[in-house]
Amino acid sequence: MDVSAKARGRIETICGPMYAGKSEELVRRLTRWTYSKQNVLLCTKDTRHGPGNLVTHAGRAMTSCYLDSADELLSRDLSTVTVIGIDEGQFCGDTLVQVCLDLAALHKIVIVSGLDMDYLERPFENMSLLMGVAESVTKLTAVCMICGDPATRSHRTIRSTDRYLEGDKESYEALCRPCFLDRREDSIHQSLGPLEGRRADLP
Ligand code: ZN
Repeated sequence: MDVSAKARGRIETICGPMYAGKSEELVRRLTRWTYSKQNVLLCTKDTRHGPGNLVTHAGRAMTSCYLDSADELLSRDLSTVTVIGIDEGQFCGDTLVQVCLDLAALHKIVIVSGLDMDYLERPFENMSLLMGVAESVTKLTAVCMICGDPATRSHRTIRSTDRYLEGDKESYEALCRPCFLDRREDSIHQSLGPLEGRRADLP
């Protein structure tokens, strides 16, 4: 059976904080499609493990192509591809939503993983909009690195105000909401970073 011809287009999102296993879940879903001999394309802007290779925190690797912004996908020949996975969707720019809608209209299954919020718990606009139009929204949690409750926030542990800072264990910790707020208060007292914009900049 030609599944690719029968597959209806749809959009799935996988979001949550750092260390929630988002990329792991994306790779798991794509791998599942390959078992039925369907072509998948994994795209990422993450270059921490070199171009062309996505490695999850759990150490699982999958061949990927580099994507600077989402609209680059529309110029590719996707005629043989059934499923398109996009990792780190928050890095893919404002065109992410329209590109995913266009791909779904072309009967592609689009699965996007990414952070739902930045380090000041402000929603990433493109991921928020994508969740609004997606058929499926999966919110994963990490384990709070202070109290062990489900973690929904990514707290930055180094000095930087770059919203799109790529990072790993040295620069982020996953926290639950109460522990996140406590950490932010501590940061103010230690002058490590103001609370600027955490509430006021919300759209
Ligand atoms: Zn906690």
